[in-house]
Amino acid sequence: MNKILPSNIANDLLQYLSYLAESEISLYEFLKQIDILNRKSLPQMRKKGLSERHAKAILLKLSNIAVSRYQYLRRHRFLIARPFGLIVDPSNACPLECPGCIHRKRKFEKSNIDWINGTLKEKTLDKLLATFGPFAINTQYFNWGEPLLNKSTPQFIKNSRRFLMRTSVSTNLSVNFDAEALISSGLDYLVMSIDGATAATYEKYRVGGNFGLVLSNIEKLVEARKKLKSQTPVIVWQYLLFDHTISEMDQAKILAEKLGVDRIIFAEPYDVSKYDPKITKPNKCPVRVDVFDTKVGAGRWSIVNALSNLDPIIDDQWETTWFSRMDDTFTDHSKSETCLWLYMNMAMDAKGRIMPCCFEPLSNPTSIFGDINKNVDVFNTSNYIKSREGFFKSDFDGDHITVCSICPHKKSTPNINYNHLKAYFNIVEF
Ligand code: SF4
Ligand code: SF4
Repeated sequence: MNKILPSNIANDLLQYLSYLAESEISLYEFLKQIDILNRKSLPQMRKKGLSERHAKAILLKLSNIAVSRYQYLRRHRFLIARPFGLIVDPSNACPLECPGCIHRKRKFEKSNIDWINGTLKEKTLDKLLATFGPFAINTQYFNWGEPLLNKSTPQFIKNSRRFLMRTSVSTNLSVNFDAEALISSGLDYLVMSIDGATAATYEKYRVGGNFGLVLSNIEKLVEARKKLKSQTPVIVWQYLLFDHTISEMDQAKILAEKLGVDRIIFAEPYDVSKYDPKITKPNKCPVRVDVFDTKVGAGRWSIVNALSNLDPIIDDQWETTWFSRMDDTFTDHSKSETCLWLYMNMAMDAKGRIMPCCFEPLSNPTSIFGDINKNVDVFNTSNYIKSREGFFKSDFDGDHITVCSICPHKKSTPNINYNHLKAYFNIVEF
């Protein structure tokens, strides 16, 4: 298995960056230190056998997460850091109509959802990757649409890997797609949403889904992975625990193992009974994970296909120092509440519209924070800045009210941390 960074170097760097981000030094000093560290570490990594571009990509990602943490802890309004997790919708459409989902609401209810049809074009994705790819550690190719509706999704996955990113897809699997193309894209993690072990149970919640098609697609995926002798993706069955699905848990487990799935996750759903009173969830959900192949896990989540084909944009970004990106006055608001999503992730729909997270896309107050095709600095648009400011000013009123002003999921616990990187770098001990 290829490791993307020898763990002794990763440990040393992570510990030092962690110490720096939490120390009392000014942003000015902090960025200078990061630049010095990056330049000093490059030859050390080369000595360990990493190619120059590979080493630069690793150092950009490591240092970006340190800058994110520094700015997050101080609740800065303007960010030098870049999002380190990208969420991308290859398609804004979904053929199913699950209760509570935006696709059903748009069709049958008078709703406040802001969603438009569209299919992601490679040139739109390339803009996002050129701007953030060198700094980000993963791309999640799913949010509100069905990703396998877009025939280019395997190509998008390959494009992310050129920036040394991990990739994941979550699908309802009730569509026709090219299983071999998906497997050979180098996808790391595939989640299949299947709530039931029989057609009658499955189709109660997955309205419009075709259980027979789902099962034959699982067979094709497992077969393609065997044929192509690929270690990835990890194939995961996700099973939501509603009152009507609980009785088929054991049956689903047997079926999943027989089909060659790697693990089944029995998960707690959101309550959707107000959208369909027949779909209720139990007071206590028996959540659990059953793993069929113990060899599958972090070890398989390694960057095995990307190392020889990294994008030259990584070299361009390396040339710009962190220090030279300073472009605002930075005031410390560390005692204030905030939301970590405004600092760590970015979501883009198939039309290139930017949202801060995976919260339901609303018209009013708006969820749309920018457009990758229009904004030069799309992580610091006025809606991003007003939303970050809204927390420390405790004031979301005024001209720029955003979805953050009404969101119930705001979080203030400082949890941008190195667990993300430990998983990414395959480090067991830290
Ligand atoms: S499969 Fe997912 S995206 Fe499609 S309608 Fe159901 S919940 Fe929504
Ligand atoms: S406050 Fe809510 S809507 Fe705003 S970024 Fe955080 S989770 Fe998303």
